[in-house]
Amino acid sequence: MQATYTVSQIKGIISASGNIAEDITITILVTDSRRINNRATSLFFALSGRRNGHEFIADAYTRGVRSFVVNSQPDMAVTDATFLIVPDVLTALQSLAAYHRKQFSLDVIGITGSNGKTIVKEWLYQLMCPEKNIVRNPKSYNSQIGVPLSVWQINSANNLGIFEAGISRPAEMDKLEAIIQPNIGILTHMGTAHDEGFDSPEQKLQEKLKLFKNCEQIVYNYDLLIDFPDDMRERKCFTWSRKFNIATLYVFSETSISGKYYMRAIYKEEEIECLVPFKDEASIENAIVCWATMLALGYTPAQCDERIERLTNVSMRLELKDGINDCSIIDDSYNSDIQSLEIALNFLSQQNQHQKKTLILSDIYQSGLQLNALYEQVARLINNAKIDRLIGVGNSIAEYKELFDVPKTYFFTDTPSLLKDLVRLHLHEETILIKGSRSFEFEKISRALVQKAHETILEINLNTLINNLNFYKAKLQPGVKIMAMVKAFSYGSGTFEVANVLQYNKVDYLAVAYTDEGIALREGGIELPIMVLNPEPLAFDKLVAYKLEPALYSFTLYDEFIKFAQDELISSYPVHIKIDTGMHRVGFEAFEIETLCDMLEINPYIRVKSVYSHLVASDAEEHDLFTLKQITSFENAFRQIEDALGYQVIKHIANTSGITRWPNAQYDMVRLGIGLYGVDGAVSRDDTGLQPIATLKTTVSQVKRIPAAETIGYMRNGSLKADGKIATVRIGYADGYLRAFGNGVGKMLVNGVLVPTVGNITMDMCMLDVSNVEVREGDEVIVFNEQQRIEELALQIGTIPYEILTNVSQRVKRVYFYE
Ligand SMILES: *Cc1c(COP(=O)(O)O)cnc(C)c1O
Repeated sequence: MQATYTVSQIKGIISASGNIAEDITITILVTDSRRINNRATSLFFALSGRRNGHEFIADAYTRGVRSFVVNSQPDMAVTDATFLIVPDVLTALQSLAAYHRKQFSLDVIGITGSNGKTIVKEWLYQLMCPEKNIVRNPKSYNSQIGVPLSVWQINSANNLGIFEAGISRPAEMDKLEAIIQPNIGILTHMGTAHDEGFDSPEQKLQEKLKLFKNCEQIVYNYDLLIDFPDDMRERKCFTWSRKFNIATLYVFSETSISGKYYMRAIYKEEEIECLVPFKDEASIENAIVCWATMLALGYTPAQCDERIERLTNVSMRLELKDGINDCSIIDDSYNSDIQSLEIALNFLSQQNQHQKKTLILSDIYQSGLQLNALYEQVARLINNAKIDRLIGVGNSIAEYKELFDVPKTYFFTDTPSLLKDLVRLHLHEETILIKGSRSFEFEKISRALVQKAHETILEINLNTLINNLNFYKAKLQPGVKIMAMVKAFSYGSGTFEVANVLQYNKVDYLAVAYTDEGIALREGGIELPIMVLNPEPLAFDKLVAYKLEPALYSFTLYDEFIKFAQDELISSYPVHIKIDTGMHRVGFEAFEIETLCDMLEINPYIRVKSVYSHLVASDAEEHDLFTLKQITSFENAFRQIEDALGYQVIKHIANTSGITRWPNAQYDMVRLGIGLYGVDGAVSRDDTGLQPIATLKTTVSQVKRIPAAETIGYMRNGSLKADGKIATVRIGYADGYLRAFGNGVGKMLVNGVLVPTVGNITMDMCMLDVSNVEVREGDEVIVFNEQQRIEELALQIGTIPYEILTNVSQRVKRVYFYE
């Protein structure tokens, strides 16, 4: 039932040239050589982009792939591989998917809009899966590459497809339309996301509407599109509105009742109702879109109401958290299907912090496959993932236990029996992936395994980290390496968690401030070369034992290291030479270079890997002349050193803003710091290519009514202008929310509203003026995120974003997300 085509059929479909070594049957399309599970039947598309696809062909070949789509014959002496040659590899992938789509006549819903696509898709899936066999994009695979890979999954058992399409530039939608070929269209919320790729919001809308050009029916918000293009009106439109009763579905009454949201509407001249189990604005709008779509597809109002009330949160994210007994927990307890299992296993394999890896997996539902075919696929993924233990929960998975080739397997009939035996499994020092279908309630397992966090957490979005890394990669001249600065717990964002992602995404070097930080990374399984900026002579033994590379910045330090190397019979040890070109912190100054060269020339104990210096104001225009002077004196210094050494070294001077503003100073490598974490004074805030990766959030512990005459907090510094309300939240200066934020200087987001602090910040708590906000105990409060930026907090108390980030204390639990 899976898509199967022979290589020769595919060659015809994509009009490729090239010789076929073996006419293999293909079931899987891959674009990332690191994600190869099922080698023999995989077809690898060597997409060129930021990462040149051809570099990865050799990698894919070593992993057993024998069929490739490429834009030129690679320079490889192999006879058992097929290279299908096409002018454009992405176009080939897209036309193969479009061809595959044409083989089926199922109903296909195409979803576009700027927000809510994934939620609406997943909710429609929840709402209609009782009677439909649905195929949909995994997660939010909605791009020029993600859509073809999603559509490729259609099989003959499916009777409904739900695919979202995302675009960021003109001309992209035509391509996605040709692949998805929807007959029903849904337009979700239109906001400002990706506006920068288009001349105007109208152009963006026009472009999005191209998805619907062959749709028989279109669902959209009438209020948003009163000027809906005429040619679209010729289609059957199902409109919804919260303002005008001429819409097909007119929502005329909305009330929030105890955490839920009750709506009444007019539909076909009857009054109908619907209860949504969410109350935030975005969820309500997405729920109305789903309501309208279900009605448009012929569901009765009663069915809609009954099902919408049971909608559940859609979590597309994997969460990486600290667990009990020194375990790391990857929590994906909310959904389970083959695609998301593959993604989660892949994330598990990126984790190097523990030797042992364990998977807790429930039965998988609604795959559209026969059970034996399903579990054969599941077993193939698991057997390739090199895990140490498999804990299966449910009757079906146990029935196929012979398929699993894992050193240790355990099976339980249901979640309660696993919970009963959990202690006896002795989970410790391992990375555990928890993945279950919703009905198995695996959140109970995750609750039992995850360390209790105090309710203030720093969330780190690892996908954003990767996007930021790519943002800077795109700014580099060819061949320039990246050293990622992960000192001070990656600017407060984590240790091995961040480093694992950077290693997997192939940065060249890491840098830490002190030896201990480097040791922590090595113990977390990081194998990249690591430079230590401030190596302490007392720790040289550990530095060498953990293969860390010292930066030598003074004659004293240089001599100490040489003496150590002599005593330990070490030769050619990799070191880095730091030049002071104007920072006047540490480093060899211009007048010292000659002496340094004399010493380097005769030294067998070390090998200079790199020479570097640091810019003091690369982001500040008023200091550009000084920056130029620094660059010139850096050039003089490294020329002398390279002459003396007689070999080339890696030369680097640019930090984050240096990459952006001084492209000619990239030399062989750049040192990317705060930009990775989403802050760069030299990048305009409108450039959405760079996004903050961290969200600091806390919760309300109590709400109080306070008369104007009362004072609030220590030293009676706080009061309200009129009678009002305050909320006490679980964050204080011991968490890094400095006292300077007190008395109205700092602001936090409470249910979407920015409110000021009142009174002094205390050690573990502080108070907010919430007189004008609807708020309840337990509600979430945002200290900073992509909306309330770190940069603003820095301005409020007269500091820099670096300090805000690194201040978040270690007591605040870090939780990592990966989509
Ligand atoms: C911290 C640091 C960097 C990174 O600077 P950003 O401005 O955060 O990019 C680069 N080089 C050295 C020597 C550093 O100490």
